[in-house]
Amino acid sequence: MEEKTIYIAGLGLIGGSIALGIKRDHPNYKILGYNRSDKSREIALERGIVDQATNNFKEFAPLADVIILAVPIKQTIDFMKILADLDLKDDVIITDAGSTKMKIVEAAEKYLSSKKIQFVGSHPMAGSHKTGAIAADVNLFENAYYIFTPSTLTDDATISELEALLSGLHARFIQIDAAEHDRVTSQISHFPHILSASLMEQAGDYGNQHEMTKRFAAGGFRDMTRIAESEPGMWTSILLSNREAVLNRISDFKERLDTVAQLILENDEEGIWHYFDKARQTRKEMEIHKRGGVDSSYDLFVDVPDEEDVILRILELLRGTSLVNIHINEENREDIFGILQISFKNAKDLQRAERLISQHTDYKVTIK
Ligand code: NAD
Repeated sequence: MEEKTIYIAGLGLIGGSIALGIKRDHPNYKILGYNRSDKSREIALERGIVDQATNNFKEFAPLADVIILAVPIKQTIDFMKILADLDLKDDVIITDAGSTKMKIVEAAEKYLSSKKIQFVGSHPMAGSHKTGAIAADVNLFENAYYIFTPSTLTDDATISELEALLSGLHARFIQIDAAEHDRVTSQISHFPHILSASLMEQAGDYGNQHEMTKRFAAGGFRDMTRIAESEPGMWTSILLSNREAVLNRISDFKERLDTVAQLILENDEEGIWHYFDKARQTRKEMEIHKRGGVDSSYDLFVDVPDEEDVILRILELLRGTSLVNIHINEENREDIFGILQISFKNAKDLQRAERLISQHTDYKVTIK
């Protein structure tokens, strides 16, 4: 197989995970990395994520057949300006990993169109609240959508070459127009982060006057606010690089809140019922139970009695299966059973766990 040199700028969660995925299917490719902090560079070298690392962005760019910019959006654009002045290989493929696409595609067309390069925007739609090379995970993108947003600098072969390069990520590749990408993600990703943060902020303020707010906050509230723990810097740059679409979703939502408020004001029992019922039906029809979006996981719920060593017993059954998270929902417990929530990386592990726990215990097991 032809040997290629891949240059990844930004050895954080996303850049590091992409590097590991490339190495899985192309162990003979040379992976060069840039990172400004010493720590992630050292970790990336120690973990074998890259073969060589630099803190000088310009150093490896001329050697690369493919350049992947996996840094924050603003920095991605700044790096494209720098690439415009470097002596790059002919037909080098340049791509990125940013969560919004219009500004990046526009910048590529503006700064790189005089060069003999190929550019396509990319958004690998998986992530976590963890950051840095330490968090890099070869399975991060498994079954997740890996979106390509073509530009005027994208050739017929650009995307198929990238798909071949990234085959080890086991992602689902898909193409979409950059503007449409930004509109869709404003609805299903950017706006929910605003809502989650706003809800958290509202509850925090309310909790200052009503002390029990903090103590009673449980299941539904936790689900709604989990993403409020996301990294603020990343979300600031996402919102500011997708202003129009995000502002549009905010004003649309305000109208919906006004509608519910009006129904409540008018004591419109049927209207309120239909409001909830429509949401319930819409949720059932959407693909959100399957992995493919941002940050999804496979959850299993076990009703466990309040007995000694019960958790240990279950973990013993799951020995050898990798768990993403484990949580005991014991807030608001009204009876002697608590709910153990275990999250897995993929459907196979989830099904295996369900089978083992059902076979070896009498506990009720539910898959969400
Ligand atoms: P990260 O914090 O783990 O890594 C970011 C990398 O960028 C680090 O290597 C850091 O050193 C470098 N960096 C940051 N600011 C820099 C600067 N000013 N100059 C030079 N280097 C700088 O973050 P990440 O999650 O890997 O995010 C990287 C890109 O991937 C971002 O554009 C983000 O929008 C996108 N993305 C993130 C997620 C997610 O959930 N984390 C998902 C999809 C896409």
